[in-house]
Amino acid sequence: MSINRARQRRRQDRIGDRHEMLVIIDAPADKPDVVVAQCDCGSVREYFVCNITRPGHKSCGCYKANPLTKATRRHGMSRTKVHNTWSGMMKFADDYKEAAA
Ligand SMILES: [Zn+2]
Repeated sequence: MSINRARQRRRQDRIGDRHEMLVIIDAPADKPDVVVAQCDCGSVREYFVCNITRPGHKSCGCYKANPLTKATRRHGMSRTKVHNTWSGMMKFADDYKEAAA
């Protein structure tokens, strides 16, 4: 019981916290391991607390679905593997253009 109550308070304290693209906006009282978070793209979903607080790239899924848009929009993403891969592709495209010119 007391563990649940402590957990509940901690979740409430997290409201307003940003985790990459997700901002915690609610902590449902009936779901001790879940928070509600809004993604930068506007989508609102429930997430497990352990998932949202764990290091890693967090979004509702739109970041993975559209890496170009998100990587250019958020500087925090600039060192991600996806971004590096994309930069490599862009460099390839530049080299190709130079070679073709
Ligand atoms: Zn999203």
